Amino acid sequence: MVYFIGAGPGDVDLITVKGRKVLEGADVVIYAGSLVSKEHLNFCKEGAIFIDSAPLTLDEIIEKIKKYNDDDKIIVRLHTGDPTIYGAIMEQMVELDKLGIKYEVIPGVSSFTASCAALKREFTVPEISQSIIITRLSGRTPVPESEDLELLARHRTAMAIFLSVQNIEEVVEKLIRGYGDENTPVAVVYKATWRDEKIITGTLKDISDKVREVGIKSTAQILVGNFLNLSSKSLLYSKDFQHAFREAKR
Ligand code: SAH
Repeated sequence: MVYFIGAGPGDVDLITVKGRKVLEGADVVIYAGSLVSKEHLNFCKEGAIFIDSAPLTLDEIIEKIKKYNDDDKIIVRLHTGDPTIYGAIMEQMVELDKLGIKYEVIPGVSSFTASCAALKREFTVPEISQSIIITRLSGRTPVPESEDLELLARHRTAMAIFLSVQNIEEVVEKLIRGYGDENTPVAVVYKATWRDEKIITGTLKDISDKVREVGIKSTAQILVGNFLNLSSKSLLYSKDFQHAFREAKR
């Protein structure tokens, strides 16, 4: 049996209780060494086998899973954040299906929500925006033309941009054209919830310079949208706002 588990964004306590329990009982843990904290492995039982998947190809990973599965081992495939977002788990599941190997996916806390939490903001603020676009620049993995960053930015909603901080200039260029306003607020969160987390805030006009100054080239979220401008005073709790559970006070 194979469990794909979301390890969360960094802080080891941000794995789900279910994920931690399965991890504790695992015989073999194949973890994405570049982004998953090794501290997670401290929760495994004695004798558990640890394999860093970073240097392995898909075929090699599947080979290892098959070998241990044939020996009836409990195998955990530990992925960063939530495994269903840029997790590259689909290609593994397809191969496991071919081999008739059973698996389960246990979700996790994605780095985009962890980054918003680090900023103490809410993506979905009434009357500002009620949608979040999760996307990336095309890189080695192409992005469909209809999902070009500039086109998506035209919605002027909240956006969380993964895997793209190394090309912050190109991101900003497309966002300025899409949002049509270089004063749109933006935040770059590097290694959210890790001990070396860094937060940089600014506007589309100045964020590139700030990011370059600090030298951030990987493992960062770019969050954009007017939700960033707001203070913590939410409409939902203001005394004039009426909803189904509470009458507005006059
Ligand atoms: N499945 C993961 C994303 C994996 S893709 C998730 O749900 O978060 C890797 C990208 O995720 C990185 O390039 C970066 O954009 C983002 N990322 C992962 N961990 C991060 C963290 N702790 N802080 C900020 N961004 C992070």
